[in-house]
Order: sequence, then structure tokens, then C-alpha cells
Amino acid sequence: MAKKQFKAESKRLLDLMIDSIYTNKEIFLRELISNASDAIDKLHFLSLTDENARRDFRILIKRDRESRTLTVEDNGIGMSAEELESNLGTIAKSGTLDFKKKAEDKTAAEELIGQFGVGFYACFMVADEVTVVSRKYGETAAHKWTSSGASGYEITDAERGECGTTVTLRLKPDGDENYSQYLEEYTIRSLVKHYSDYIRYPIITDVVKYTDKKTEDGKPVTETAEETLNSMVPIWKRRKSEVKDEEYNDFYTDNFADGDAPAKVITANMEGAVGFTALLFIPSRPPYDYYTKAYKRGLKLYSSGVLIMDSCEKLLPDWLGFVRGVVDSSDLSLNISREMLQHDRQLREIAKALEKKLLSELAKWMADDREKYEKFFANFGITLKFGAYEGFGVNLDKLKDLLLYKTAKGKTVSLKEYVAAMPEDQKDIYYASGSDAVSLGSLPQVTAVSAKGYDVLLLTDNVDEFVFKILGKYDDKQLKSVSSDSFDLSTDEEKSEAEKKAEKHRTLLDDVKTALAGKVAEVRLSSLLGDYASGLSAKGELSIEMAKVLASVPGNEKIKAEYVLELNPDHPVFALLASLDESDKTRFGRLCVLLYTEAMLTVGIEPENPGEFVKLVNEFIK
Ligand code: ADP
Repeated sequence: MAKKQFKAESKRLLDLMIDSIYTNKEIFLRELISNASDAIDKLHFLSLTDENARRDFRILIKRDRESRTLTVEDNGIGMSAEELESNLGTIAKSGTLDFKKKAEDKTAAEELIGQFGVGFYACFMVADEVTVVSRKYGETAAHKWTSSGASGYEITDAERGECGTTVTLRLKPDGDENYSQYLEEYTIRSLVKHYSDYIRYPIITDVVKYTDKKTEDGKPVTETAEETLNSMVPIWKRRKSEVKDEEYNDFYTDNFADGDAPAKVITANMEGAVGFTALLFIPSRPPYDYYTKAYKRGLKLYSSGVLIMDSCEKLLPDWLGFVRGVVDSSDLSLNISREMLQHDRQLREIAKALEKKLLSELAKWMADDREKYEKFFANFGITLKFGAYEGFGVNLDKLKDLLLYKTAKGKTVSLKEYVAAMPEDQKDIYYASGSDAVSLGSLPQVTAVSAKGYDVLLLTDNVDEFVFKILGKYDDKQLKSVSSDSFDLSTDEEKSEAEKKAEKHRTLLDDVKTALAGKVAEVRLSSLLGDYASGLSAKGELSIEMAKVLASVPGNEKIKAEYVLELNPDHPVFALLASLDESDKTRFGRLCVLLYTEAMLTVGIEPENPGEFVKLVNEFIK
């Protein structure tokens, strides 16, 4: 039979394979095993109604050092001469053009091949000659397809005892790469484990085993025996009630580089446009690199038991990046060239369903096992908070009830719980923002609000106040910062009292403002300062804490909140201030700086010149 040429598009793909642009050549085995498994699936299906089709289905891998060949053999449906011609002489029909376009760009091509493979032709990455002997179920004749790559292929008559397909690769000589490794038991074993562990049929190879016997001169006797390399039934395909906790834990620790059992195991079995099974884990603590760029988020993606991607990022939003696990969908075809256009849409469908599932699981967890949820939140809550802030709050509605905050009363609450616990006369939700709960707890405004019987949310993560700004309200209650200059708890009566008082001290307040020119935008009296002589709040939208966060970004150092210095008219130092304003302008100016610096310290801003501050303190206590 004359040699035939590959169709143009196939040739293009073949060239890519022969040039071996793709570094991860080992996937060829995964592709051959998948094809074998598909072929067995087809006969298996027939065998449901056709007794003759029944047999012990299996995939054999044979390694022969002498002839330098690796063989993958199945007893599946097989191919007729015409099928050999049409299946192996052309690649993928519908997606071909698109693949070709992408393949012009080598990196894109490499990515595609890596993720989904290109099927049968992948074997040309490691072999310089490929022989396929196949006999179709129900036929007696067998045929042989041979090709050494670009030169074309030949189809001739052949012999084969029963139906099925045998693919034999003559490995390339070692040189640019060690191709002989594919003749090693160890390599084959680990490749099958890695990529094809959950193929439904046994993948069998001959292995050398030690026996109990010894030779006369004491050497151990070995024997060759068949061994099934794959575990066949994936743990995620088993019913949750039939899997022991330890099995899930072992699977997690074996596969996700974490020595600790997961904090939570979530299983999902979705039907719909894109059906899939998922087994998900929430780690019991953040991976060591979780808060660095090195952390690789994503889920393992399988298609009918075949590993397609080690970590598919598209399956999870950033704000669920702590979730590890596996997604298996039989609706994803392994062949990118054919199905590429569909993948993105399918992955998006899966991602959407996963997000919904995870959100409802987290809510349930929070309600059912609060202690564990709080632990989880201490580990990963910040990720959810960033999710709430992302895109100016596009996910805020989904996430707002999953967020927890510490309070001045020492509780850890969600916004919903805070509102439920509000006394009847409390109209708004109060919060204070700073770097740690302890110093926030002693903030004068927090102390004053607590004294009235109201609790205060203590926001200690940088992102918190930004989330609150977007949220604005919860359950129709305003979120109010106790350190905003507009914050006021007084009654109308108290307000008019305060105005009178402020009028009385108008000159003094103006003089303080003049003494602190350039430092504060306003000086006013406050009844919320308790034991403190002075306090600091911010005017307008930009709070002191938010300004700190923004200013910590390089290039933004100049960003500052508009400070309002608050003075406590009932504090003895206030009387001293008033008298110095009349008697000693120099000392008055120094006392103003002292009070201002103290106010800065209470909100966690260090004085520009600590030495100068200490001198000031000493000057006034002597
Ligand atoms: P894909 O498997 O994604 O369809 P391939 O290039 O790997 O693409 O294979 C092309 C076709 O060749 C398959 O669809 C199948 O019909 C046929 N084929 C490949 N390997 C086998 C096999 N071992 N047994 C039967 N048919 C096979």
C-alpha cells in the first residue's frame, strides 16, 4: 500500500510534536491511556446488551529494552482500516482551525497542550516511529498503521488475536532528553499514578519482585509478575457515607502538601449543563506560602478520572483561594483541539456552581460549628474580606454575612449578630479602626461609647474600613466610625449645651488652631474623651486608619487624613491651657504641641520627633 500524506492541519500539529516544543513530553502516556480507556468504554457499553463483547477489560503497558519500544495495549472496540485512516490521519475536526491559530503562538500552544493534550499525536514527542495494530470488534481482519512522523503513514494488513488496539512506540534515541526513562518500571509507575490513577480499568505492567527464596549463593530470587498500577476508583466518586474520615484526611495530606488533616471536607455532586463531582478541603492553617505570590491557588481538574491540570485557577475566585481539592467532570473532553472553544464556558459554569456551594457551606459551618468557623476565619477571613472589597464590592452581598469582627465587649460577631444585640435606643452600628484590638479598646471614643452600653466593632485589618465604606449601611443601620469628627452621641439638649460651651471657649479654640497651624484642620471640644485631655478624629471621608493604609503604599507617603484635635473641657489640663493662653504664649504653644502629640499617640501615630515629645512631657510634669 502506498504511503499517504497527513492532512494539512494534522501535519502542522504533527510538526509541533516532532519539534517537541512542549517540555512536558511525558503527557503522551496519559493521552494513549485515555484513548485506550475510551475504546474500552465503547466495548463495555456494547457488552451490556451483547454477551460476546464481555471480557476482562484491561490496559497493558509493555516495556522492551532490546527493541527500545513501549507498548500500550487495550482490548477495547478497536479500529477498522477506514477508521485507522480517518482517526489517525486527521486530527480533530471542528476545533482544528482554531487550534492552528493558537499554535502559531508557541507559548499559547504549549499551554494548551499542557492543559488538555493533543491526543494521539503526542506520542511523536517521544517516538520516532509509531505502529498501531488494531482489530475492530466484530471483524476478523486486523490492520497496521505505521508512521515515522512527517513523512506520512502506511496502512497494511496485520494479525491480531482479538479485538482491540496495540500502540507501539519506538523511542527516540537519548540526547536532548532521556527517552530511555520511559522503559523504566519506576517512570511508568509514577506517570500512571500521577495522570491516570483513576482510570476505571486496570492498567497493568510486568514488574520485577523479590521472592522469599534465595539462590544457593544467598542472592534473593526475583520473579516477574503483573501488577495493576492504578487505584481505579477515585475517592471523590465514592459515596461520602462510605468513606472514612481518615481516608479523606490521607487523600488530602498525600495530595496537597500539607501534613495536617483539613479543617473541613466538602463534597459536591452537581448535575446540569456541565455535570461534575468535587472533593474540596479547607486547610486547618494557611500553607506556609499562602500570603505570598508563590502560593498557587486552584483545584486539580480531572476529566473522567484523567488529570488535566494540577491547579486550575479558573475554578475558584481569588477570595476562595484557600480551598484545595479536586474537580472531575466527564463533560470536559480531553482533546483541546476539538473542544477548546467550549472549555472556557464549561469551566465558568463549574466555577459558578462551586462558588455557590462553597458560600452555602461556609454559612452552614458558621451556624453549626461556630468555634471551628472562628478558627477558620482567623486563618483565612482576611481573604474573604479582600473578596468583599474587590471590584468595589461586587461580591459584598454574598460575603457580608460571613465576616466576623471583634468587639469592645470582647465578643466575635458578624454584622447580623451585632445588630441583633443592639439595645433598643442604639440607632447606628459603631466601629473603631486601628491596628490592634487592645489599643482600640482603650481609645477614648470607644470607652465613651461602651460606657453608654453600646458595643463597638473593632476593625483591625487594613481592608476592614474600606469594606465598611463601600457597605455604608447594614440592615438599614449606618456604619459609623467613632473617630470621625461627625460622630456624636449627645442628645439635642446636650448638643445645645455643648455649642454654648464651645462659644464660650471660641477664642481659646482659635488660638490652639493657630498654634498648630498646618497640623490640624480644626480644633473642637468633645464630651467623649473620658480620662483623656485630648483626642484625634478625622474630617470627611478619609479616616485616620484609611490614610495610614494608603500612605503605606510607595509613592503615596503624602496621603494624610484631615485631623481634628478634640479637647476635653472637663480635664484639668484644659484649665491650664486656658490660663496659659492668657499669661504665657510660649508655654501655651508648647502645651498645644504636647496635647496634639498625645492625641496622635492614642490613635497609634508616632511623633515625628520622640525626643522632643519626651522633653515636652517632662517640662510640664516638673
Ligand atoms: P481524541 O482521543 O481526543 O478523539 P486522538 O487524536 O487521541 O483524539 O484520537 C483520535 C481518534 O482515534 C479517537 O477519537 C478514536 O476514535 C481513535 N483512537 C485512538 N486511539 C484508539 C484506541 N486505542 N482504540 C480505538 N480507537 C482509538
